[in-house]
Amino acid sequence: MDFEDERTGEIADGLARIRRRLASACGAVGRDPAEVTLIAVTKTYPAEDVRRLARLGVRDVGENRDQEAAAKAAEVAATGADLVWHFVGQLQRNKARSVVRYADVVHSVDGVRLVRALDDAVGRYRDRPLDALVQVSLDGDPARGGALVGGDTPDRDLDRVLAAVAELDGLRLRGVMAVAPIDATPGTAFDRLAGVAARVRAAYPAATWLSAGMSGDLEEAVKCGSTHVRVGTALLGKRALLR
Ligand SMILES: *Cc1c(COP(=O)(O)O)cnc(C)c1O
Repeated sequence: MDFEDERTGEIADGLARIRRRLASACGAVGRDPAEVTLIAVTKTYPAEDVRRLARLGVRDVGENRDQEAAAKAAEVAATGADLVWHFVGQLQRNKARSVVRYADVVHSVDGVRLVRALDDAVGRYRDRPLDALVQVSLDGDPARGGALVGGDTPDRDLDRVLAAVAELDGLRLRGVMAVAPIDATPGTAFDRLAGVAARVRAAYPAATWLSAGMSGDLEEAVKCGSTHVRVGTALLGKRALLR
């Protein structure tokens, strides 16, 4: 195929590889690839790459830092590209008023006070609710992101966070998200996540999304029922800086 520039060709190759991996991962467990949304995680990459992705048919992009995301989303929006922006990084309450202005989905909702801050910000800046995924901690480490199953930090308690999202009009509870712990096999962690997701879905039937799987573990995630994979490096190349 002929692309307008070399970088577009590179990204097209990455995209084709990811689509093949997704198709084969789905095929292996009898799932329809159409059930799995590919989110291109564009952190550290310029707005021009987001536009290239859009021209290649990608509709969903993910970012993990508010400042970078806000600027990039504005730059891309100015070109008229219509994308779904997913905020996937740890989120502090003081960023809520910024994030709700460009994000369509926040994957990293992990505290009751954060839920309230987002709901308040939605009331001020948006005319429709924000799609929310509650991030589940799979390693139980409160220093890392994610709501905790059990434990004694009420603000971060998974059941309380879920209830807070469900109760407030500004947020629409879509499901759960997780990042596989660094030191565990992703399959085991994602099996646990699938159990949590099933319990969440039983309590909140509209919460059908499961955001799991990145460049290195998307096959395991698809096997455990992921509906949204978040892929950066395998699509765009190795990032210059680790974040
Ligand atoms: C960076 C990031 C990704 C993408 O990771 P890759 O390994 O580059 O595919 C996915 N999810 C979150 C939360 C991230 O911060």
